[in-house]
Amino acid sequence: MAERLETESRKLLGRLRDAMAGDDPGQARLDKITHLIANSIGCEVCSIYLFRDEETLELCATEGLNPDSVHQTRMRLGEGLVGRVARSRQVVNTADAPSARGFRYMPETGEEVFSSFLGVPIQRLGESLGVLVVQSKEAREFSADEVYALEVVAMVLAEMAELGAFVGEGAAMGARHSQPAMLRGTVAQEGVAEGHIWLHEPRVVVTNPIADDPHREFERLTEAVEELRVGVDKMLALAADKEQAQVLEAYRMFANSKGWMRRMQEDISNGLSAEAAVEKEQSLARARMGQATDNYLRERLSDLDDLSNRLLRILTGQGADTGAEMPADPILVARNIGPAELLDYGRNLRAIILEAGSVGSHAAIVARALAIPLIVHVDRATLEALNGDHVMVDGEQGIVHLRPDDTVVTAFRDKMAMQAAAVERYASIRDKAAETLCGSVVSLHMNAGLMADLPSLEGSGAEGVGLFRTELQFLVRNQMPKRSELSALYARVLDAAGGKPVVFRTLDIGSDKVLPYMKPNDEPNPALGWRAIRVGLDKPGVMRMQLQALIRAANGRPLTVMFPFVAQYEEYTRAHAEVDKAMEREARLGHVLPEALKVGAMLETPSLAFSPQKFFEEVEFLSIGGNDLKQFFFAADRENERVRRRYDTLNVSFLSFIERIVERCDQTDTPLSFCGEDAGRPVEALCFAAIGLRSLSMRPASIGPVKSLLRRSNLDEVRKVIADARHRGDMSVRPAIMDYLRDQG
Ligand code: PEP
Ligand code: MG
Repeated sequence: MAERLETESRKLLGRLRDAMAGDDPGQARLDKITHLIANSIGCEVCSIYLFRDEETLELCATEGLNPDSVHQTRMRLGEGLVGRVARSRQVVNTADAPSARGFRYMPETGEEVFSSFLGVPIQRLGESLGVLVVQSKEAREFSADEVYALEVVAMVLAEMAELGAFVGEGAAMGARHSQPAMLRGTVAQEGVAEGHIWLHEPRVVVTNPIADDPHREFERLTEAVEELRVGVDKMLALAADKEQAQVLEAYRMFANSKGWMRRMQEDISNGLSAEAAVEKEQSLARARMGQATDNYLRERLSDLDDLSNRLLRILTGQGADTGAEMPADPILVARNIGPAELLDYGRNLRAIILEAGSVGSHAAIVARALAIPLIVHVDRATLEALNGDHVMVDGEQGIVHLRPDDTVVTAFRDKMAMQAAAVERYASIRDKAAETLCGSVVSLHMNAGLMADLPSLEGSGAEGVGLFRTELQFLVRNQMPKRSELSALYARVLDAAGGKPVVFRTLDIGSDKVLPYMKPNDEPNPALGWRAIRVGLDKPGVMRMQLQALIRAANGRPLTVMFPFVAQYEEYTRAHAEVDKAMEREARLGHVLPEALKVGAMLETPSLAFSPQKFFEEVEFLSIGGNDLKQFFFAADRENERVRRRYDTLNVSFLSFIERIVERCDQTDTPLSFCGEDAGRPVEALCFAAIGLRSLSMRPASIGPVKSLLRRSNLDEVRKVIADARHRGDMSVRPAIMDYLRDQG
């Protein structure tokens, strides 16, 4: 870049800083800034457009256009050249604006006499804040250096906006992060919550975007990058597996990238501080990330983003610990979070909001186990939320009300009060049986996966633990847990259950549950791949260790073990043989054996429902894993947002299939339960009971609502509603059941 321009750019930034130094109101600052930029670049016009809402830009200051149009001229995102810059987040540079694609003439501004137009996005970390425009009468394209200089200015404006420098009257100049915002996402764990924001990674605030001494800034940048490189090398030396090492290699590549360094040095030459230079590059990368369709490129850009964050933390000295105090009712906001980190927060959290994440992620599994409402895929959450912001999370609709206004607060609190009243009603029937009006009794158990779940056994009124998912202990660690650790944990679970039955499901890994310390398998169809019992039988080491731990934990008490994902009879017999072997071994070693042992299987694949009669006679109990069974029955991936809600559990075909399983179990007196998520949905649970299921296992919080509905229902009538729906050829029995329930009041 020409040295003269660099000097000009630094001079301009210096003047901008002076313009910001006084106590002027936001509007006066913007006016000064447009004046300074127009003069410095030698253009007749400089204008600043800011967003007044997500869709609309407003002219907030101008030098050269009609002053009366300030705060009057507005355009929608994508409208006119300014709207085009904002939407595409790309520069528009033209010598002949009226002929440019998308041009829209704004008569009130008097801009018709200006031929050339240069617009650059004002953006911060991928968030669009507005557009900075210069125009001139002379028909000329702006040089690359001029574009670059204007981008640097736009970057500084973005930082200043973030620091609240342009707050004034009207929506476009409202203080940032002060307006109510409604964000949408996907529910990964239901529930409603009110609280205050706690950012998992606090925002880095750059308070000094402009610097006078480029040499000093070069030095600071070089030192910080060196520290970053050393840090990445250290992490690489400690990498747990190939996948992690690959990511770190990519980090190292960026940390050593000459192009990245050169661009940041250029930014510094133009007057930015080292941290502002890092942020400028990060913003550009984020804007590209939003547009990249190629997965590989997106991942690399996201690596660069992470690396930039690390560099910013080194430069600003702002670590994860800002000294801020966690609110008493924290609602966690993060781009993503691992299961171990989530467990560290524990049950303190009222809710969790993630920008990334997925319904089946490990974090979601932990959130579910902790019964904390979780919403994933919440776009812009980390951009919008500030530590301490008031927030209401509607984990039924998947909506986050950030800084809600009074009407939302009132409506939301009403909703919470109604739920609290319902919880109280449930508490009053906690010790009563789930006995229907027609005299059938359904036993209700709870699902668990953590020691922390056990207190719910008492509070929910569950008769026992119908499914203890043992994989969580494996997922949240960085290395395989030891047998002694597992045995101590299982013993504590049994102690806490105080004699109530606990069904331990052996390790169910593979598919979406990948252990951090096991080599991931590259399978085309992981849900149909090498998972659960398949892994256990092919590589029995871990399964044997787990069985021994369970027997030792029982220490003479009754023990119930369940194998996941059994698809055929032979898998069950082989698994049972492993239990027998473990019992023999433990006896040989002098350990006390369980006084009673039950070994069952999960019915999660349609094939098992059609196994020979002998299997049903032999298996000691069965539990329907409806989450998996349903995905295979309908061939609809439970993790795929596009299809996972497509088929109703109350679809007549699926209900008939479950009924068939109930009949087969009745013929052989095989105890049967249902432990998938649907068991905890009252209407589904009612239908399951009507077709003959007498044992359901669900999240503790679902026991009250399910019991309450069962106690108010007559299964003979429900059966009739189902039969009529079938007879009519309804696709799902849901509409008929809902009508019936409405009629019942
Ligand atoms: C199921 O598939 O229904 C089940 C309970 O197992 P998981 O959800 O752990 O796969
Ligand atoms: Mg399953």
